[in-house]
Amino acid sequence: MSGIRPTGMVHLGNYYGAIRNYVRMQDEFECYFMIADLHSLTTHPDTRELKNNVKRVLAENIACGLDPDKATFYCQSHVRETGELYLYLNMLAYKGELEKTVTFKDKARQHPENVNAGLLTYPVLQTADIIMHRASLVPVGKDQEQHLEMARNFVVRFNHRYGEIFPEPHAFNYNQELVKVPGLDGSGKMSKSENGMSTLYFSDNDELIRKKVMKAKTDSGPTTPYSSKPDYIENIFMLMKLVSQADVIEKYEQDFNNCTIRYGDMKKQLAEDMINFMAPIRSKTSDILANEDYLVEMMKKGAAKANESAKKTMELVREALGLNYF
Ligand code: AMP
Repeated sequence: MSGIRPTGMVHLGNYYGAIRNYVRMQDEFECYFMIADLHSLTTHPDTRELKNNVKRVLAENIACGLDPDKATFYCQSHVRETGELYLYLNMLAYKGELEKTVTFKDKARQHPENVNAGLLTYPVLQTADIIMHRASLVPVGKDQEQHLEMARNFVVRFNHRYGEIFPEPHAFNYNQELVKVPGLDGSGKMSKSENGMSTLYFSDNDELIRKKVMKAKTDSGPTTPYSSKPDYIENIFMLMKLVSQADVIEKYEQDFNNCTIRYGDMKKQLAEDMINFMAPIRSKTSDILANEDYLVEMMKKGAAKANESAKKTMELVREALGLNYF
């Protein structure tokens, strides 16, 4: 089980942190993937663009390889039971721990005019989404690690108080470290809403991808063989490892180690490899978006499957809570 917010365009960080694993997991597990439209209300209260954004993010995920015939792919707001489970879990979440959440503190700092209760209880809603399908593996990027820790705490508390209903959820990346795709400016991470020139979006055209990659921070190169790489150079190597062939990466590693590296050439290569990877997904997204009927049908099918699973879970939950009076 995992989700992605429709707060902007899907980017390379979403792909390598999450969607790539959705695509692999859908062949191996029973999967639920969700467009987290309710979560987006915590930071994006204006819903005029929501419908278009939801459709775009649906299409972008499918273009990246998510197959709605293999995984249940649905919109969060189509599972009404989530609100109910969120309410029960809120009684088990403490104000102090919610206030300490790093993402809450960041967002409160960025938008001091809108520090709403939904933002504070974001990890509780996320837990409701995950355990609604009694999921144990949650493919997410590194930024979500703390939320998953909190989800485990809420689940342990629920099970302790009301009975063993839920498995403990864990952030999942096939036994590898969770991924954080850095921004091209060498700081922070690629993200939907911030630092647009530092993030590679699947909607970017070839020229814009070239422009963004060429602007990535570099320096005049190492002067001592086998030096350690500054963070912003490490980032460029990391991006290259995501999209380039092994021999290309090896060449630039060697050039770096013997101090002959030309970052201009490296970035040109990276830009072309990036375009080779991203452009087909962009054009597939346009084709899917052009087929409105397909998207609507798919959403309905996903909602029906997710509702079926939610209904089963909530029967167990109400029973466990002792809310079955007759
Ligand atoms: P969001 O865009 O915040 O809704 O996140 C959707 C998924 O993408 C989550 O699993 C995030 O952990 C993941 N994600 C977002 N940005 C990055 C990034 N820069 N690197 C790795 N994973 C990311």
